[in-house]
Amino acid sequence: MKTSQMLFTTLREVPAEAETTSHRLMLRAGLIRKLASGVYSFLPLGLKVLKKVEQIIREEMDNEGAQELLMSALLPAEYYQASGRWDVFGPNMFRLKDRGGRDFCLGPTHEEIFTNTVKSEVKSYKQLPLTLYQIQTKYRDESRPRFGVMRSREFVMKDAYSFDLTSEGLDISYEKMYRAYCKAFSRMDLDYIVVDADSGAMGGSGSQEFMVKSDTGEDIIAFCETCGYAANDEKAACIVLPCEKEEPKEMIKIETPDAKTIDELVSFMGTDAKHFVKTLIYRGGDKYVAVLVRGDREVNETKLLNYLGCTEEELELACADKVREFTKAEVGFAGPVGLDIPVICDNEVYAMSNFIVGANETGYHFDNVNIKDFTCEAVLDIRTITDGDPCPVCGKPVKTTSGIEVGHIFKLGTKYTEALDCTCLDENGKQTTIIMGCYGIGVTRSISAIIEQHSDENGIIWPLSVAPYHVCVVPVQASNEEQMALAEKIYEDLKARGIEVILDDRNERVGVKFKDMDLIGIPVRITVGKKAGENIVEYKLRKDSEVLELSYEDAINETLKYLNR
Ligand code: ATP
Ligand code: MG
Repeated sequence: MKTSQMLFTTLREVPAEAETTSHRLMLRAGLIRKLASGVYSFLPLGLKVLKKVEQIIREEMDNEGAQELLMSALLPAEYYQASGRWDVFGPNMFRLKDRGGRDFCLGPTHEEIFTNTVKSEVKSYKQLPLTLYQIQTKYRDESRPRFGVMRSREFVMKDAYSFDLTSEGLDISYEKMYRAYCKAFSRMDLDYIVVDADSGAMGGSGSQEFMVKSDTGEDIIAFCETCGYAANDEKAACIVLPCEKEEPKEMIKIETPDAKTIDELVSFMGTDAKHFVKTLIYRGGDKYVAVLVRGDREVNETKLLNYLGCTEEELELACADKVREFTKAEVGFAGPVGLDIPVICDNEVYAMSNFIVGANETGYHFDNVNIKDFTCEAVLDIRTITDGDPCPVCGKPVKTTSGIEVGHIFKLGTKYTEALDCTCLDENGKQTTIIMGCYGIGVTRSISAIIEQHSDENGIIWPLSVAPYHVCVVPVQASNEEQMALAEKIYEDLKARGIEVILDDRNERVGVKFKDMDLIGIPVRITVGKKAGENIVEYKLRKDSEVLELSYEDAINETLKYLNR
């Protein structure tokens, strides 16, 4: 393709709304353009990358025996009503009515629809196992769309669903998808780790996420370099190493005027946050609970909602009025002693002694509090893991890092097949509920992740596997006939060999053209300049700074070698 004929618009300025490297570069390189918050168009260069990423995933899925199909994105409500997710999705679901007033949604994910298809098409165990997938546009009205296509409201997902008769069968189907994902992400040159993930809200017996390590990732991963344990922080188990308990002292009331937060208490009392226990009052559905964690810890809301059995939408910190009603005090003085709502105690707090808590009286705290001084409904792991905490498997300190979730695989079990009555006849002629797995890849998000890991101050550095074009031929002066003739010749030669090549034939200064080609990340640059008459060109890789002067033939050969042709 010649740049003069392409829709080719790069931006010099860094767009103000873009906070991450990938978002900035995708806008600047002209891969995407914003239409509305979390809604983007893919321009020609971006679409080329998208198709390559899709094709890698498609090949690896097919390689493991999965079959591609295509479902509608416009979906009737009844299937989601049958599974209960019409309500569960809440405001995240885009909903609409047809002219007859019937409810529809734009599919956020398709478990129900695939289950229904298998229910209609599969009658006998002989048709199983089966893994079906699609690469399709999904819609989620995210509360905070951001970072471009990293978290958008319309995005491309590869979603696959496996159907088996037995849980051993599910294990095999799951393994196949695990392998396909590893291969696909490796082909995209992504440095990823696989972590244990929470499967609470979706039900099911196990789930793992594929995380790309990146500072801009919205997820936190805890991992252990000693034993290899890795988990999303929503899931990572927090343990307490055995330690000696102090003798309980007598509880005393202390005056703490104006000290409502842990920070204020720490400076007021000159004591470490580790001696305090925070009491946070939550509403989970209709139930109010008090959650106790050490002063320097955070409540893990995923663990809490799994315990309470409510959805994310139903869980929130209690409002100030409710806190006042339960504690008879201003916000900031809640404590477990004498509190009249169920108390959930973190396992770490259970191991503490002589700690400080709110006294349920404005301006006061209790010191020397011990577990015997109040009643707990439950003692469990309810906090979020932090750097240096003991690994739940081997006890050595874990590390934490941020990551981008590019894929998620899930042993679902019978949650959807039971709800939608998806059964088939087993070997004994008995109707059996089919067992499911589901497997998602954020296709458009993967592009952001690739750019996060493959760029420098000048722009994107595409891995060969997903580069929109492999080579750019840049005549220094497009108006110079000799240079242009040689550039055209190289361009035609590479094209004839099936190589995706751009000829930058614009009448721009060469510096501008170099900058653009660097920005859009083309792996090989061949520059045709003053030595065109001697058949000599410059050969440069985007990832290196070295420039080689080569004859025309050698430049072609180097290119072919580099591209493994
Ligand atoms: P997240 O926790 O990031 O919101 P999720 O766990 O809700 O994602 P899944 O339902 O597991 O997402 O969807 C499968 C994959 O789709 C995710 O692993 C992710 O890569 C991608 N994905 C999910 N939501 C978005 C989004 N809003 N924009 C882009 N990609 C997304
Ligand atoms: Mg997920």
